[in-house]
Amino acid sequence: MKKIIIAMSLLLAAAAYSNAATISEADKERAASLVKQMTLEEKISLIGGAVDGFHTAAVERLGIPSVRMCDGPQGVRNNTNSTYYPCGMSAASSWSRAAVREMGEGIGRDAKARGVGIMLGPGVNIYRSAFSGRNFEYYGEDPFLAGETAANYIQGLQSKGVISTIKHFALNNQEYDRHNTSSNADERTINEIYFPAFRTAVEKGHVGAVMTSYNPINGTHAAENPWLIKENLRKWGFDGIVMSDWTSTYTVLGCVNGGLDLEMPKPYVMNYETIKPLLDNGVLTVSEIDEKVQHILQTFIAFGFLDHEIKDASIPEDNDESCNSAYKIALEGPVLLKNNGALPLKSGKKNKVVLVGPCSDITPMGGGSGTVDPFDHRRTTLKMGLESYAKSYPTRYFPQDQLDSPEALKAVKEAKAVVVAVGFDKKFESEGRDRTFALPEGQPQLIEKVAALNGNVIVVLYSGGEADLSGWSDKVSAILMAWYPGQAGGQAVADLLSGKASPSGKLAFTMWGSVDNNPASKYYHPGKSAVNEKRFTAYSFTEYKEGIFLGYRGVEHFGLKPLYPFGYGLSYTSFEYSGLKVAPAAGGYDISFTISNTGKVDAEEVAEVYVAPVNPTVLRPAKELKGYEKVRVAKGKDVSVTVHLPYSSFSHYDVASHDWVVDPGEYHIQVGASSADIRLQTKVTR
Ligand code: BGC
Repeated sequence: MKKIIIAMSLLLAAAAYSNAATISEADKERAASLVKQMTLEEKISLIGGAVDGFHTAAVERLGIPSVRMCDGPQGVRNNTNSTYYPCGMSAASSWSRAAVREMGEGIGRDAKARGVGIMLGPGVNIYRSAFSGRNFEYYGEDPFLAGETAANYIQGLQSKGVISTIKHFALNNQEYDRHNTSSNADERTINEIYFPAFRTAVEKGHVGAVMTSYNPINGTHAAENPWLIKENLRKWGFDGIVMSDWTSTYTVLGCVNGGLDLEMPKPYVMNYETIKPLLDNGVLTVSEIDEKVQHILQTFIAFGFLDHEIKDASIPEDNDESCNSAYKIALEGPVLLKNNGALPLKSGKKNKVVLVGPCSDITPMGGGSGTVDPFDHRRTTLKMGLESYAKSYPTRYFPQDQLDSPEALKAVKEAKAVVVAVGFDKKFESEGRDRTFALPEGQPQLIEKVAALNGNVIVVLYSGGEADLSGWSDKVSAILMAWYPGQAGGQAVADLLSGKASPSGKLAFTMWGSVDNNPASKYYHPGKSAVNEKRFTAYSFTEYKEGIFLGYRGVEHFGLKPLYPFGYGLSYTSFEYSGLKVAPAAGGYDISFTISNTGKVDAEEVAEVYVAPVNPTVLRPAKELKGYEKVRVAKGKDVSVTVHLPYSSFSHYDVASHDWVVDPGEYHIQVGASSADIRLQTKVTR
């Protein structure tokens, strides 16, 4: 009998979870009836954070629980050890919807095990420059790739009955003076580049919550910005919770009228003392407060928080399933930039490998709210990973302070290959500040020193975005961008170096080779301070004058030559593309083609589909990513791929009608291995 009851309750819980992604009419009605029963004090208590700044307030009388929330995109943070997954940049670079979804499921499982109802991720702010200290949390420069990655992460996470929070809405593309620097951009740029990932998260991911950003947008802070929240986000059909970022609220009227539902971490400006007098004298109406409570409650109801415990005690906090998911994506994210045949490492007792560099014996991570504290026994380092191959090739590691010893110098000289692990880590790349383009001091010198002693140097670079490779990249045999690959990254990177798996990640942003080559650079740093007349506060601004020509869109528009293009990444095998066909299919076209693995190992390939207007009557990027697929192809085999392009793939944002429109004419459909390596092309007329 007991077993049957457990099975029944599991079934019921599963049913509740599967509905979690969308808010039904019944959920809305139930929330509305609760709102009617609440006192003004109770309502106001619910629209501000409570307890420790990571909970909502409870209204026990009505069965409304206090809901715990935790950061952040890379795993469950806040006073717990938990699975540490690869960072956002690694997830995006995998171009793997399946691996990203599994990562979301893993984080959802870890959250359920701890009774966390709201996860504060993913982050989808577009990569505008290597400087931003939070690039590692985000999904790169392309709105389509970022949107797809976000939707899959959210679907995975929310399938476990946990609310996902997409952040930071919007245009939080730098960390420098983030509270005060207004991101000033035009309507088309915002809609084509900076909104789509959020919009896809709403329309496809059915995300439960949205966190506003710290920065003002065109002069008005995000948490108090009715244009942002009411005229855009809500019009996309978002009926979940809009919460502020931690301490980003300024005025009670701005927050109440702007459309914010939940002030975090606590009710600094939306509290009983500030709101009650405004209601009494008619400046505000109760219906404005009710609407916020309604959004919060209908979301909690849809996720079942009023009907069952948020915590699922049957899930172990430290579980193998989540760790396996963290490993899988760690294997798919790294991008091989250069390989003169040094990789994979040659196996054989005589093929000694030496490992040096500050990131060799740590589990690298970006800093700030995106950090995760993994269980010690789950943590891997590159040293551990390479040592697991002792039977194939013996690896010796020399820490920094022993590098000048005669023994180390001899070992470096005589090694078959030297792996140098460098990068930023949380001390140098973190929320709250921008970072340098240059690698931390001493690292370029270390690479050059080793390269002067050994002709076969492999650089493994841990970073959330581009770093300066100049000066040493020509002197090394291979460069692997490992991003921050999570707790399993030490093993996963070693597995890639050894050839157990082939690298299959591709760049989610353009590598420019220098700061100045990036057209956004000259507009990146804030302009002079001004007075925001609405708020009478001093603020500065950064103007997004590169407009829609960001990243690879700028490469082609301005005729620039990047160091490594968007969508680029090497493999241990080679692929050929053939047989491109376009067929009309529900609401768009099916693009099909064949990928053949013409090399010597099984591997994954990412095929990228771009739409390129032939003679546009409006200013457009030369081409834009509108589809992709990652497929595993065995050596010597072919795989057929079909990518659906809805008609919306051809549209651009029209400022006159404030809407997306299609410019009639011819469009090339291009299929490539990167944005600069188009293999197949055909034409359609719209
Ligand atoms: C960050 C958010 C984070 C919040 C809570 C803020 O500083 O910008 O991304 O979710 O803190 O830790």
